[in-house]
Amino acid sequence: MQVTFFGVRGSTPCPHDDNHRYGGNTSCAVIEEHGHDPIVLDLGTGLRNWGDLLPLDGSFRAHALVTHVHWDHIQGLPFFAPVLQPGASLEVYGPPPERDGIRTLGDCFDQFVCPPLFPVRIADLPGDINFHTVRDTELVVGDAKVMVRDVPHTSVTNGYRVELGGASVVYISDHQMPLDGSLEVTDDVLELCAGADLLIHDAQYTPEEFAKKRDWGHCTFEFAVHVAAEAGVRRVALFHHDPTHDDVFIDCLLEQARAMAGQRVEEVLAASEGLTIVL
Ligand SMILES: [Zn+2]
Ligand SMILES: [Zn+2]
Repeated sequence: MQVTFFGVRGSTPCPHDDNHRYGGNTSCAVIEEHGHDPIVLDLGTGLRNWGDLLPLDGSFRAHALVTHVHWDHIQGLPFFAPVLQPGASLEVYGPPPERDGIRTLGDCFDQFVCPPLFPVRIADLPGDINFHTVRDTELVVGDAKVMVRDVPHTSVTNGYRVELGGASVVYISDHQMPLDGSLEVTDDVLELCAGADLLIHDAQYTPEEFAKKRDWGHCTFEFAVHVAAEAGVRRVALFHHDPTHDDVFIDCLLEQARAMAGQRVEEVLAASEGLTIVL
């Protein structure tokens, strides 16, 4: 199994000379295994760049696991050329919406991809895009086993554990740590992460930034390392980088995170656009 990152930012796209090494696109990573349809983790603006590498002949088939419907996790979908072809198909899984009058994940996307916000509706796109509302469950996606659990954030948010080809990847893009700055981890998150080969985890803030933005739905890079260590994860990728953090700043956070992990986590890395991890 291999995982490639196409968007590693949180909140908003922020391409700039100072952050081009890690990249400025929002959340999107792709799990690939020989002979298996790809499994996409979130549909942020990085999704469009993956599309540049794929054929546009209608042969595209994939599953997408969406953590939640904040802009930075869904905005790439209508710009993803491979699925905008007759015959192509994408099955999208994600949590239930919380707003009155919107019952399903599909309804939620319809509210976002429609005039006047966007020129056409999802149903008008040439490819076949289907939505599945999921929460706190187990899924079978092709040959992959997928565990879905709640992750604390500002709205209902899923975390996913994907087991495929003998390897396990856990994806927790946005994670509200305890407001008092303590390191308590929920049972659901520990269950998702237990002994995983790779954990892709929110690492948006420094402790100083968290002190000013405690209830914005995120955590510190220290908390990401702590979750990995508590759950016995082999490798953790710091993810959902803050748009204000340039390359030098993220290098510095990574160095601190590695020092903090010590022997408790085998490898700590910072996700960057184009990086592929082979498991
Ligand atoms: Zn986010
Ligand atoms: Zn969010």
